[in-house]
Amino acid sequence: MKAPAVDYVRPKSLAEAVDLLSQHPREARVIAGGQSLVAMMNLRVASPGLLIDISRLPELSLVSDDPNAVGIGACVTHAAIEDGQAADPSRGLMPRVAASLAYRAIRTRGTIGGSLALSDPAAEWPAVLTALDAEVVVCGPGGKRSIGCADFTTGVFETALAADEIIESVRIPKLSQDARWGYLKLCRKAGEFASALAVAVIDRTRGHSRVVLGAANGAPLVLDHTSRLLSNGGPEPRNAVAADLDRAADRHFDEFQRNLHIVAATRAVRQVLQ
Ligand SMILES: Cc1cc2nc3c(=O)[nH]c(=O)nc-3n(C[C@H](O)[C@H](O)[C@H](O)COP(=O)(O)OP(=O)(O)OC[C@H]3O[C@@H](n4cnc5c(N)ncnc54)[C@H](O)[C@@H]3O)c2cc1C
Repeated sequence: MKAPAVDYVRPKSLAEAVDLLSQHPREARVIAGGQSLVAMMNLRVASPGLLIDISRLPELSLVSDDPNAVGIGACVTHAAIEDGQAADPSRGLMPRVAASLAYRAIRTRGTIGGSLALSDPAAEWPAVLTALDAEVVVCGPGGKRSIGCADFTTGVFETALAADEIIESVRIPKLSQDARWGYLKLCRKAGEFASALAVAVIDRTRGHSRVVLGAANGAPLVLDHTSRLLSNGGPEPRNAVAADLDRAADRHFDEFQRNLHIVAATRAVRQVLQ
């Protein structure tokens, strides 16, 4: 199937894009890499009347590098992160994640901002950026605001983004030299969305430790008990992960899914501790 006819506009600035979006709140949708939105339009899952193309806005491709954090523009592609074209605040985690996401053809067009905005529960970036304690910088008619990644994705394909806001960038604190991370994506074949996805980050210098599950039937799931165990160097992570899953009363996993999540998180934590 092909997408229905749609109006298309390419604004020259982020301010103009926000203006257009707020003038057409019901029918307009921004398009970045189009890797998810065009497929959704072809399947008639999305039927916008107006596409606002933000993919070539210079403000959204900027990468800033200051002593404490890196800012990555919303329209920076997964491939640019994989190839090291954007400064890496994560000591190798983000390029590793980008390389495991979809196929290279999709990575050359798909963007970090598009992935966050869509917040597919099985997507990598919402979980990984939550583990890194990143902030999403969004721009709307009233100006800019920052939202912690842990609060940005609110459910399955649901976010804290208002209908007239556009993601401008993601600000990611730099991991210290002694920081360590672990990352595991389980899927049946390369290029697929994850069946289970876990990321563990410990940065003792910054006093930050966090273990997060993706593909967990909702927003990224922060495993508090396991995160504490990571920072205290406790013995066996498996029991802590299982206890965290028991406490996540809003998530419902069958035995197979539950086991996949336990295996993914346990292995990600072991990568950090070994
Ligand atoms: C076959 C296939 C396999 C895939 N596998 C994976 C995978 O394993 N892991 C994974 O994480 N992803 C995967 N993806 C998704 C891919 O990463 C997409 O690139 C990404 O989800 C969306 O990015 P995009 O730039 O293409 O966004 P688009 O498709 O252009 O937009 C997606 C949505 O985000 C909105 N949007 C885009 N940019 C912004 C912005 N700056 N501000 C506000 N709203 C915005 C759009 O309005 C739309 O609603 C896969 C996609 C395909 C087609």
